[in-house]
Amino acid sequence: MEIAIQTLPEQQRKPLFTDSSSLGFGRIFTDHMFTMRYHPEKGWHEPKIEPYRALEFEPATIVFHYGQEIFEGTKAFVGEDGQVRLFRTDRNIARMNRSAERMCMPRVPEDVTLQAIEELVRVDRRWIPKERGTSLYIRPTMIGTDPFLGVRASDTYLFFVILSPVGAYYAEGFNPVSLLVDKRFTRAATGGTGEAKAGGNYGGSLLAGRIAAEKGCAQVLWLDAKEHRWVEEVGAMNIWFAFGNKLVTPPLTGTILPGVTRESLVELAPKLGYEVEQRQVAIDEVLSGIKSGEITEVFGSGTAAVVSPVGKIVTEEETVVINDNKVGPVSQHLFDELTGIQMGAKPDPFGWVRMLDK
Ligand SMILES: *Cc1c(COP(=O)(O)O)cnc(C)c1O
Repeated sequence: MEIAIQTLPEQQRKPLFTDSSSLGFGRIFTDHMFTMRYHPEKGWHEPKIEPYRALEFEPATIVFHYGQEIFEGTKAFVGEDGQVRLFRTDRNIARMNRSAERMCMPRVPEDVTLQAIEELVRVDRRWIPKERGTSLYIRPTMIGTDPFLGVRASDTYLFFVILSPVGAYYAEGFNPVSLLVDKRFTRAATGGTGEAKAGGNYGGSLLAGRIAAEKGCAQVLWLDAKEHRWVEEVGAMNIWFAFGNKLVTPPLTGTILPGVTRESLVELAPKLGYEVEQRQVAIDEVLSGIKSGEITEVFGSGTAAVVSPVGKIVTEEETVVINDNKVGPVSQHLFDELTGIQMGAKPDPFGWVRMLDK
């Protein structure tokens, strides 16, 4: 498929951010976006890169009513060598197609989508911040676009990709965050959509997230829906527990988002001298393990936050502090190794990085 490219004239382009240390996350968008439409007879068509603009839809459009929406998050980096690198974007596209199947949406062609993302990043490459800890966040999204109020899958779709220069995901930066455990709420149940990166999962989590924020917590640590006993994950990160050199993360049972960062740590950590175990972890084991010192660190993993140390777990009964609420050596080590690979500062033994200019 030929991607049409319509770029903004130089003088109409937005001024760049001036300070990459105060970017935050997902507030600034670049000059261009990629769009492509789906029609049952035509398939995917009209792939194009065009100026970033507002989209216009009828109020009856399916996505506004029944949330037929999926998205992805992947990143591009500029290394000290000036090379632009994409990190495992092929894994994100593959996951998007699994989300698409779960939400009755059409699969995107993997090669065209990867090519479109590469081309878009090329067009907006001046927007990639260069400092360690910054990157260009890439947000592929698909929405159902039929103007129809019956509950069914849409026939037509829009797929788009937008770009945002970002710094740290949390206001805390690379510092420990606090997580709230609240047994009144559930993120995903067996048979539900927890495994898909579908917008509705996040809409349903907002109330618990707000209560967490009121208690000084950055996010919610979700437990399983049935017993409220097994630790699952965090709002936008998978969760890890370090028992010294043994790293434990819950298994992918269908209710947990299969993170690309999680998958990367499962492969990378053993090379760095850690043992990785994927097994169920009960919240009681977590709390008692932290108190006894058996659990030495807790951290989350995700594209947005990379590796994010957890300093406190807050429950209705108690607040448990991990590693004096400081960044621990394991979190620091994994963060350094992973960002090192992403920025081209460390070797890439798994071939995870794709150079934009070959
Ligand atoms: C995106 C996401 C993650 C992390 O996945 P990555 O591919 O590592 O970015 C974890 N949990 C949830 C709920 C997510 O939405």
